[in-house]
Amino acid sequence: MRIRPVLGVLTLSGALLVAPSPAFAGGSALGPTATGYGGAVSTVDPTATAVGIDVLRRGGNAVDAAVAAAATLGVTEPFSAGIGGGGFFVYYDARKRSVQTIDGRESGPATMKETHFIDPTDNLPYEFAEARVSGLSVGTPGTLATWESATKKWGTKSLASLLQPAAKVADRGFKVDATFRQQVADNAAAFGQFDSTKALYLPNGAPPAVGSTLRNPDLADTYRLIARQGTDVLYKGSVARDIVRTVQKPPVSATPVGTWAYPIRPGTLTLNDLARYDLRHPAPTKSKFRDLTVYGMNTPSSGGVAVSEALNILETAGLSKTDVTKALHYYLEASALSFADRNRYVGAYTPQRVVDKLISDRWAAQRACQIDPAKALTKPVPPGDINAKGCTPAKVGGPTEQGQSTTNLTVADRWGNIVEYTFTIEQTGGNAMVVPGRGFLLNNELTDFNFTNTQAPAADPNLPGPNKRPRSSMSPTIVLKDGQPFLALGSPGGATIITTVLQILLNRVVLGQTLPQAMAAPRASQRNTAGIQAEPAFRTTYGPSLTALGHTFAADVPELGAATAIEFTRNGGFIASAEPARRGSGAAAVVHPTR
Ligand code: GLU
Repeated sequence: MRIRPVLGVLTLSGALLVAPSPAFAGGSALGPTATGYGGAVSTVDPTATAVGIDVLRRGGNAVDAAVAAAATLGVTEPFSAGIGGGGFFVYYDARKRSVQTIDGRESGPATMKETHFIDPTDNLPYEFAEARVSGLSVGTPGTLATWESATKKWGTKSLASLLQPAAKVADRGFKVDATFRQQVADNAAAFGQFDSTKALYLPNGAPPAVGSTLRNPDLADTYRLIARQGTDVLYKGSVARDIVRTVQKPPVSATPVGTWAYPIRPGTLTLNDLARYDLRHPAPTKSKFRDLTVYGMNTPSSGGVAVSEALNILETAGLSKTDVTKALHYYLEASALSFADRNRYVGAYTPQRVVDKLISDRWAAQRACQIDPAKALTKPVPPGDINAKGCTPAKVGGPTEQGQSTTNLTVADRWGNIVEYTFTIEQTGGNAMVVPGRGFLLNNELTDFNFTNTQAPAADPNLPGPNKRPRSSMSPTIVLKDGQPFLALGSPGGATIITTVLQILLNRVVLGQTLPQAMAAPRASQRNTAGIQAEPAFRTTYGPSLTALGHTFAADVPELGAATAIEFTRNGGFIASAEPARRGSGAAAVVHPTR
């Protein structure tokens, strides 16, 4: 998410492709919006976007470009994503006209128990920060396996070749900007506890200066090692051993920078856990909204379910662009109702029949009947009763989750294939441990489990268990219209991902905004809590009319999400869109600005 013009961008062959911004080979700008033909890429980072465009330009397809861009984000956005983490890859195959997915979510150790995050000395759950910065929070990373599977199934180039541009960026370095520096500063106490992390990100004991060049030769070597030896090196070989050692014996520094308030606990992930890691390929969630077909990620993400349920509820309301207050009122109510249901029913092992029910129009009607057009519901709202008919809520329950890490990218190629990919290491900075000698941070994804039952006396679908994957909110979404691609989008932002994706769809489809307007518009997130989280501009603009309907606002948040999206125009063109301002702005590009 940084405008980092200094080094330009390296091509697969290692030549400099991009001169200093904003000029871009071929003439398209590396700004937040690009329109044109021949393929498109939108990511949070200009280097990653340019790498993706270069792959497309050399004849690679959307999958090739997405993997090369993702590997680059592992270098330039190391606190959001990388081979130490996991994610969800959604692919539209133009020839087959089908949407397929890869669930590369991290999985917990085989020995993981429901009490994983309960301190045995006092039977109380660990504090979040204590659980996060520990070996306990680390799940088996699924990202590298995802890249391999995607390129083998759907790509045209070898994973080995697609790792090369990222390796070169890691070797030569990139310019630190204010966002990057701030992310380190926010994590300084945690990063300072580990020699491997402070050596990389706290040079001279402090966050790197804005404008300095950050190199990561260890990560370059790791990428090249994977290119030579294959992905087994990370699941069964020397990198696997280093990951397991880091988890089981966190590399705590004898000379820490700063103090950390908690003991740094070891985890139990084993070599067997890594060796047995399996990708899953669940069918996407599929629902209709007006004349659109919306495909999203199935469990263990709650994204597809919650976005679909909320859209179905919105559809019952007969919204139009002339009544913005009504549209936003229903958006907030539909979000709250969907979150209540997601918290009660959605986890890694939710039966497909429950997923199908939650994304059905019948369920939407059963939930929408609770919305009063003239008065906001009191939050939190109870979940619906899955076994009842009519307007019957079940018991209250369900907290919200926070988090602002993760990254998202959107790629489309000239053949009409699309990749929507959200991947993460959970918190910004993951669990704060760089695997010594390997140059990447480990995830803390297992803290996405609920530490204790949030739904009592009902069961909580998101408690830890052996080999289980924690529930996610990541919502890579592909939308078709009349069987043709219309829009692909996704965002980071923890549980706010769901509402960000939903709100962009509302803005674009219901309120008739252009895609860049829909992306830029101020955001609000109602995740079934007493107060709405909103960006200041949202509260200023819509607060009075929504407050009059009984909505309540919590304290403002500076920003929600960091989305990327591509819209497909009727004449075969692309509108690639990234954030104009949030998280330092993103980078969209097309292969040819004109036909
Ligand atoms: N770990 C979160 C999830 O899977 C994403 C974290 C974030 O975006 O901040 O839902």
